[in-house]
Amino acid sequence: MPSGRDFTSGKRGSSGKKNANCSFCRKSYREVGPLVEGPDDVYVCGECIELCQSILDQERRRRGESRKLFTNVPTPREIVEHLNEYVVGQGDAKKVLAVAVHNHYKRLMLKEEADSDVEIEKSNIMLIGPTGCGKTLLAKTLAKYLQVPFAIGDATTLTEAGYVGEDVENLLLKLLHAADFDIEAAQRGILFIDEIDKIGKTSNNVSITRDVSGEGVQQALLKMLEGTVANVPPQGGRKHPEQQYIQIDTTNILFICGGTFVGLEDIIAKRLGRRMIGFGTDSMQDDPERHEDALANVCVDDVLEFGLIPELVGRLPVISSLLRLSEDDLVKIMVEPKNSLIRQYKKFFEMEGSTLEFTDEALHEIAKIANEKDTGARGLRSVVEGIMFEMMYELPDQEPGQSYVVTPAVIRGEENMFSRDDTAAA
Ligand code: ADP
Repeated sequence: MPSGRDFTSGKRGSSGKKNANCSFCRKSYREVGPLVEGPDDVYVCGECIELCQSILDQERRRRGESRKLFTNVPTPREIVEHLNEYVVGQGDAKKVLAVAVHNHYKRLMLKEEADSDVEIEKSNIMLIGPTGCGKTLLAKTLAKYLQVPFAIGDATTLTEAGYVGEDVENLLLKLLHAADFDIEAAQRGILFIDEIDKIGKTSNNVSITRDVSGEGVQQALLKMLEGTVANVPPQGGRKHPEQQYIQIDTTNILFICGGTFVGLEDIIAKRLGRRMIGFGTDSMQDDPERHEDALANVCVDDVLEFGLIPELVGRLPVISSLLRLSEDDLVKIMVEPKNSLIRQYKKFFEMEGSTLEFTDEALHEIAKIANEKDTGARGLRSVVEGIMFEMMYELPDQEPGQSYVVTPAVIRGEENMFSRDDTAAA
């Protein structure tokens, strides 16, 4: 700013008036020194000018950052390649996600170009698949790759205003936390809402008085998914009238909703005109292959019949299903990722000066046990820990420099790895 120059009337801008106060901080000339004078007896002091400058600098930096992100939107192929490094299988879901995410951030780019005459609507995403098959992992990996804030919320904790539970705005608060309260960053983050199927109006709601967590919550979610300026209570909890709110515009937040939708495959099968196995009691869940067949054909109508209200489904236009992980997939998950379970145990043995190997059969044995638990890859850790527990107890008492091999017999508890004669084999 050209200091000392007047803006309008030809008067000098630097004021030496002893009784003038800064119009911003109200401090007097005596406290803060010379003031810059504007029209109509408006003054500003040096401190406030510096403050304004730092606010403007910060704003410019942020805009620069967001531009950097949006001119660098990775292609769907690049996104899939990155996801492949962390998530095993789920090829279809990866592709669908990659295209949707690419388009989402492209859309934000387009918005920044003021002269664009086409407005692309936002496409939130719904991921359907059994528990522990990688829904959350996919969303989390994506957000990390795109360097946008990411938070996970649970739809089952939400209830209508007036009931014990959380307001939907608390989900946004989580995103704000993830963004270190940088509202601008939070407004282009990714919010994963789990268990979206549990708020279906026909789901097993235990409330005998009324549908506390059903349609009302879906209605509240609607606005958020579509894009609204939400009032988020900074401390969380229930909103109350005297509270201060942080306003968050959800227009550019990408919502990814996940759910297991147990029973959905039967609805799909019915629509496709196939007979269900048995006479009503068995579901297709019991036959993994048919279950997958059915889920791959999921469409909006099935989700509606399941119990989500049409408006909500309309705001989640991208639907993709994830497959139950096969035994081979589970083996890969145990071995391939950088910090895989097996690598972690190998490290423990290395620290004792020994080595540890798992035979292929042993890995498949573990995968089989985990598969029976029906918790997908989530069950792997507890199974492996259960098996390794005794060995970890005994390991420090063993001679260093040994080579150990975990076989199916060791896993079944029929053999003790440390007392076998052949464990010392190279
Ligand atoms: P959900 O589908 O229930 O959201 P998660 O994505 O939370 O399941 O998976 C739980 C854990 O299981 C993950 O943290 C990850 O370690 C592992 N996992 C699940 N699916 C996969 C997968 N496809 N590839 C690699 N790891 C997986």
